[in-house]
Amino acid sequence: MRLSLKSGPVLLLVAASLAAVCVATRARGGPKPAPEPTYDLVITNARVVDGAGNPWFRADVAIKGGRIARVGRVAASDGKKAIDARGQVLAPGFIDVHTHVENVYDLPDAENFVRMGVTTLVTGNCGGSASDVGKFLGRASETPVAVNLATLVGHNTIRRAVLGEADRQPTPEELEKMKALVERAMLDGAVGLSTGLFYVPGAYAKTDEVVELAKVAARHGGVYATHMRDEGERVADSVRESIEIGERAGLPVEISHFKISTKKLWGRSDMTLGLVRDARKRGLSVTVDQYAYTASSTSLDSRLPDWVEEGGREEGKKRIADPAQHARVVREMKDTLRKSGFKDFSYAAVASYGAKHEYDGKTIAEVAKLARGHSDVDSQVEQILEMYAAGGAAMVYHSMGEDDVRRIMREPFTMIASDSGVRRFGEGVPHPRGYGNNARVLAEYVRGLGLISLEDAVRKMTSLPAQTFSLRDRGMVREGLAADLVLFDDAAVSDPATFDEPHQYAVGFTYVIVNGEVVLDSGRVTGARPGAALRHASSGAAQNS
Ligand SMILES: [Zn+2]
Repeated sequence: MRLSLKSGPVLLLVAASLAAVCVATRARGGPKPAPEPTYDLVITNARVVDGAGNPWFRADVAIKGGRIARVGRVAASDGKKAIDARGQVLAPGFIDVHTHVENVYDLPDAENFVRMGVTTLVTGNCGGSASDVGKFLGRASETPVAVNLATLVGHNTIRRAVLGEADRQPTPEELEKMKALVERAMLDGAVGLSTGLFYVPGAYAKTDEVVELAKVAARHGGVYATHMRDEGERVADSVRESIEIGERAGLPVEISHFKISTKKLWGRSDMTLGLVRDARKRGLSVTVDQYAYTASSTSLDSRLPDWVEEGGREEGKKRIADPAQHARVVREMKDTLRKSGFKDFSYAAVASYGAKHEYDGKTIAEVAKLARGHSDVDSQVEQILEMYAAGGAAMVYHSMGEDDVRRIMREPFTMIASDSGVRRFGEGVPHPRGYGNNARVLAEYVRGLGLISLEDAVRKMTSLPAQTFSLRDRGMVREGLAADLVLFDDAAVSDPATFDEPHQYAVGFTYVIVNGEVVLDSGRVTGARPGAALRHASSGAAQNS
């Protein structure tokens, strides 16, 4: 076996020269030998949705050297391999601009993403990123992954490195240190700066601090992506702050997971989208992304007032243990709840509680009943505080209205992004968006409701993300661009993942191709890991590695 493997190339060479001889001697007649196929892979008989929003057209697509080499009429025999699309939709691979995949090297097949057509992930969102962007992107060459990776640099990560969890403003020297960290990350290939002003310690920062850091990202052509300070009661102020930061720092703004997360303001996405439209009319580049669900997912800690968390969890536990401060926390939490329009915390379900996984999948009201025998609001608040002290939990919050989700999706500047991590199959009861987001848009909002067209949905998942995050050679089915492609049956695509049973892969996706290599073949993950680290074009390093 070993011998034949070693001798393989030699035999091929002999065969090739024989073939050449044959061509020469048979030039005057007789059957010609088959020529070497021109392309690595040919996909025939596809309905191409090009990513730009154009109506689909029927074509064959040929790939060579990881690039799209031809879109038009190509014979299957011109490819070393060929796939008959049988009229299925061939689209650019989906670009998910809002992910949290700092752990991708532990789960390099990124199967939950691949199986819903995603070929590029942008991570480092909501203010949290790898502290060393160069190292993070560099790991892709040692530990190959199935999909392409790009990252933002996170403000919370940077602030924590310089100021810890302190609730104060930086000194001029500290601000310079933070700026230098943004600069370093941009030179290492970050696509922009992200903030999570909703979270500690970002919540302690004033607008001016963010503007100063965003100016550094602006110099390098980066984008400003933000999980805003407030998506509830003060959502309009937060949209205004985001736009102001972009305007003062001189860079495009991407508002992450755009939503109205307080019941009292359901329906007001009219007004918040209006703020974005007005900014665009003034010439400011503002875009948004969203996931296609009425529930969000984040930490349990986010239900507590920011002041409780200053200095970290150990400090927070001391405050909660102090009777006077405890009473204040309870009062403020109940006050926030009342203002939100929810009657209790039954809108909040546990996704993963490390201290007691029996609670996973249950609402806070159910957990309080189970643990304390009561499910009144006071018992629920006490239960939350106990769980915070025991290490916290990942949560799912059913806090949005469907009308807002639809209104936001219809907007031309909205892209589709999951806000998910790489899932470990079967672990916890996480938000289903990590398995189903793209599929759900195609199944529910395109095919089911007809809210947006197939072509527009694909545009929101491909060329718009590529344009916004400066991923220059991706996001469209065009000759010369990277061969990131997805083939799916638009009549069958669906998202079986639910809030109760999220660990279910999307269906209807047959082939996924990354840089010309097949990572999903007839619905099965191949184990190929052709993903590239995508560095920002203005960084010191090359774009791809
Ligand atoms: Zn976020």
